[in-house]
Amino acid sequence: MIYDYNNVFAKILREEIPCKKVYEDDFVLAFYDIKPTKLVHVLIIPKGAYISFDDFSKTAPDTMIVGFIRAVGLVARQLEIAESGYRLLSNIGRDSGQEVTHFHVHLFGGNTLDRMV
Ligand code: AMP
Repeated sequence: MIYDYNNVFAKILREEIPCKKVYEDDFVLAFYDIKPTKLVHVLIIPKGAYISFDDFSKTAPDTMIVGFIRAVGLVARQLEIAESGYRLLSNIGRDSGQEVTHFHVHLFGGNTLDRMV
């Protein structure tokens, strides 16, 4: 699979479509999900052409991986849900139902989350 530069998150990164920004630095952009399923539902995406976590973990430079992970924690603290707790989720590929083929992590929180298993 090759990266689709017309996916919706690529367009958000290029500022061709708007987003409700939560945080931005050299490595990531974080913004509210357009169809939130939890009280807090934010998406964190890397600033680079990565299809999924599989692609990102395989091809991203170490500086990008560190920058991304640090930013995820920072966003949770900025949203003041680090103390109360939160959940990270990333859909990867067909079987997961990944809709947008730009690597992203969902950050869920704000109240008690249903158990997943
Ligand atoms: P996934 O199934 O993990 O690929 O999830 C993609 C997520 O992107 C869904 O939760 C969508 O609601 C969200 N989404 C799609 N388009 C937008 C958009 N323009 N702005 C914010 N979130 C979006």
